[in-house]
Amino acid sequence: MTHVRNASYNKAFNRREILKNLRREPLSRAELSRKTGLTRAAISILTDELLAEGVIRESELRADPAVGRAPVLLTVVPERYYGVGVSVERERVEIGVSDFSGAIVKRRACKLKSTAEQTLIAAAKVAQALLHALSVPADRVLGVGVSAPGPLNDHTGVILSPPSFPGWQNVPVCDILRRETGLRTMLDNDANAMALYRYLQGASGSENFLFLLVDSGVGSGIVVGGRLLRAGEGFTTELGHTSIHYRGPRCACGGRGCLECYASIPAILARHPQFESWQALMRSDACDTAVRQEAEYLLTGVRNLRRIVSVDTLLLSGGIAESADRLIAEMERQLRSESAQYPSEPLRIVASPLLAGDRISAAANLVFSDFLGIA
Ligand SMILES: [Zn+2]
Repeated sequence: MTHVRNASYNKAFNRREILKNLRREPLSRAELSRKTGLTRAAISILTDELLAEGVIRESELRADPAVGRAPVLLTVVPERYYGVGVSVERERVEIGVSDFSGAIVKRRACKLKSTAEQTLIAAAKVAQALLHALSVPADRVLGVGVSAPGPLNDHTGVILSPPSFPGWQNVPVCDILRRETGLRTMLDNDANAMALYRYLQGASGSENFLFLLVDSGVGSGIVVGGRLLRAGEGFTTELGHTSIHYRGPRCACGGRGCLECYASIPAILARHPQFESWQALMRSDACDTAVRQEAEYLLTGVRNLRRIVSVDTLLLSGGIAESADRLIAEMERQLRSESAQYPSEPLRIVASPLLAGDRISAAANLVFSDFLGIA
């Protein structure tokens, strides 16, 4: 029986690998075989099944004069599955419907009501109205993905105590949205949701990376071996709340000398009070000092992480990524000058600024991360 269970587990895993790759780009069977490591025969059987189920389809032929014969490309069927996204932000809540390709096909923002529960009930009504307007059959909706500021518990689906967010303490978000929509609901913090979204897009360029959201705080999403790393018991990983100085300032989390106390944008500006923003600081003479300090702080945190898990890529996001060229160049310079006492893979650092629509896409894509077994 174990053998049968393993075989069915492997098959489900391989189907998800195929879909994960096809969501990023149309591929031929030969390309799928190369990317997944599965044999051509296995690809043939699994893609035939997915074609019969209407989850993927054969796309137009791609002319390739070098090959002589154009291979048939496979692509996911966008309208086969849908996910609802709810992005809870401090100023508003945004609701969107994503098709299986990851594209948001309809979205709407909703003002915060006087209580969190009233806001979520209103968001659920908007979600149902959007699905109705799109005439999406109920059996094609995989669920609701909610991204919110942490700390939160993703097992219980409860937002715990986000700073500067009055009225959103201990809110059972998933219970409320499940009750109001009848849909499976999952919750994660914004950094994890963004990390998973970048991974599903193929934008991380790696199966082992750190997504660092440096803004009013320092959020982190860590993907190792193509799966999101979790801290256990429903708690998210928080690189921003690991200490880089044991006698450092007291942090809002209760710890001392957390990375966030030094590397968040408010912490940088507290050291350079004559500037109103990171961008203004980057245009000034104080830029070199600020960049050197920030690179030291961030790399201390990243180095601590890399002593525990192997990540080869850092996606730098949030407000700091909007003017990050000099910071990244300085981080690369500091990395090159490190002693090779603990040789490790080179770290690739890439700016990954938040674009309009990223937050709602990331929330909706939590549903597909769950479906594809990477969350
Ligand atoms: Zn802290």
